[in-house]
Amino acid sequence: MSDYTAPLDDIAFLLRHVFPFTATMAELPAFAEIDADLAVSVLDEAGKLCSEVIAPTNRTGDEEGCVLENGLVRTPTGMAEAYATFQQAGWASLSGDPEYGGQGLPRTVQVLFDEMVSAANLSFGLFPGLTRGAAEAVTEHASDALKSIYLPKLISGEWTGVMAMTEAGAGSDLGRLVTRAEPQADGSVLLQGSKIFISSGDHDFGGNIVHLVLARLPDAALGTRGISLFLAPKYLVGADGSLGAANGISVGAIEHKMGIHGQPTCVINYDGARGWLVGEAGRGLNAMFTMMNAERLFVGIQGLGIADIATQRATAYARERIQGRDAKGPTAIIAHPDVRKMLLTGQSFVAAGRALAAWTSMQMDIAAQHPDAEVRKQAADLVALLTPVIKAGFTDLGFETAVLAQQVFGGHGYIREWGMEQFVRDARIAQLYEGTNGIQALDLVTRKIQPNEGATAKSFFDTIKAEIVQARAIDTLRADAEAIANALSRLDDLTQLAVSKTGDTAETGALATDYLRVFLLVSLGWTLLRTARVALDHPDQRERRLALLAFFSQRTLPQVEGFALAIRAGAQSITAEAALA
Ligand SMILES: Cc1cc2nc3c(=O)[nH]c(=O)nc-3n(C[C@H](O)[C@H](O)[C@H](O)COP(=O)(O)OP(=O)(O)OC[C@H]3O[C@@H](n4cnc5c(N)ncnc54)[C@H](O)[C@@H]3O)c2cc1C
Repeated sequence: MSDYTAPLDDIAFLLRHVFPFTATMAELPAFAEIDADLAVSVLDEAGKLCSEVIAPTNRTGDEEGCVLENGLVRTPTGMAEAYATFQQAGWASLSGDPEYGGQGLPRTVQVLFDEMVSAANLSFGLFPGLTRGAAEAVTEHASDALKSIYLPKLISGEWTGVMAMTEAGAGSDLGRLVTRAEPQADGSVLLQGSKIFISSGDHDFGGNIVHLVLARLPDAALGTRGISLFLAPKYLVGADGSLGAANGISVGAIEHKMGIHGQPTCVINYDGARGWLVGEAGRGLNAMFTMMNAERLFVGIQGLGIADIATQRATAYARERIQGRDAKGPTAIIAHPDVRKMLLTGQSFVAAGRALAAWTSMQMDIAAQHPDAEVRKQAADLVALLTPVIKAGFTDLGFETAVLAQQVFGGHGYIREWGMEQFVRDARIAQLYEGTNGIQALDLVTRKIQPNEGATAKSFFDTIKAEIVQARAIDTLRADAEAIANALSRLDDLTQLAVSKTGDTAETGALATDYLRVFLLVSLGWTLLRTARVALDHPDQRERRLALLAFFSQRTLPQVEGFALAIRAGAQSITAEAALA
């Protein structure tokens, strides 16, 4: 039995009414035939897969973990079978490029699917998530020869992908990596070095494992400019696509982790492994950024998925658990304001976050497929702006939500059999990998805000302002619209402040994470406002959407004021020599 309910009603409302999917796709020739009904019916099936096939592997994965036996990884009971069902039914290729066998569905459908997979089993979701990112990097940067061999198998999910960047001395600062690539006469290289923390580094799903490895060619420049990207398969591949000899790639160990025990995070050794250059020599980080950006959004969505399942469980529990009494007698804990506040914090984040994810993924579809280059660029800029906000913001709130949901269970939340402590442990990783959330905040401020003096942010704020104008004209929404307008005005001021600190690393570093949180809160307020306005015409949605908006604008959004005050206080108290013992 599964206790995960795929959020199909919410998804259908979002795609049909809040951010109309059919109208958006109609402008994109590649997707013109794909309407909201088709998307919802695909996601309906996807939801069944997540509830019936993937979710049942979550607990076993946590209990058993992955094991290294004779140099090979064995995944927990049921994982390989679930992956086979997933892959053979075509779910791995949902949004893959049709030129290489993919089904070519929009990113919007993929992202909503990713949320469900992450909710069902975060560890499982990393296998297809990384494989898709690897396929994207190969599509964008590899030679035609590499594409023809590897893309069909990566897109079908028969082979899985690995992102091999981190080393013991090179984490956030990849410029310190030392893995070497020795050029060979036939144009390949031999890779020598060791990577740590490599997700999906090995498994027992069959097929091949395609490593995208960052390494240095001889005489490469120091720092990030000397890094190149190489593709190295676990098994060498014959001209006919058949699997040949093992390729000098071995698992040194499985990392012992706080959570995601169903996911084999490995130390990987490259001992003369044959690899091939992807993209230009010395531009490896640039090529890897294609994969990293895809993964950053994916990881943000992991935070959302965990928040949803943890809140679903906590809400069901709160309805059943009798503690305390009211005038009528013993009462379920859902009657207590403090419990309600915890549940509403989770539910409002999930509703707002899913809407923001849907809108952002529609921008990704526009960026990839719109016939007008200028429209494509605007959409790509918005996606780039929101990528760190979603990665860091959704994973921070994902973890906070998981902790609140655990709190709703009281002491039972701390006991393993209830499953809530697993969510807390699993949610924690998403704040750390794929660039820590601190690094995401710096990315937002120093790469997406400061270089263009906040121009892309302003265009996003204009979208929010347009919604506020509409909502202000409606009595029922006026107070919430004002609250969001005030928060937006703070964000606007803080954006100018951040721009004024360009080049000042201390001030920029001190404000970045708080600024990202303000950006997130305002963005979530916007999607809730829009959803509530649209829901006014839908009696089945109206009251709940208004209530979620009211809760968020009255009980969560005021946090913006606190963050604004902290940011305005400046860096001095943080950077003062005397402050840290
Ligand atoms: C379970 C797991 C799975 C992973 N999967 C993969 C994978 O598949 N592939 C892969 O290549 N890597 C993977 N990683 C590695 C992960 O991406 C890194 O751990 C992460 O990027 C941080 O690097 P680090 O651990 O070396 O921390 P450090 O870089 O040492 O950072 C330590 C602290 O300092 C802060 N910090 C560092 N530099 C700065 C700076 N310039 N400004 C401000 N703050 C800074 C960080 O935010 C952090 O709080 C995985 C890690 C884990 C734990």
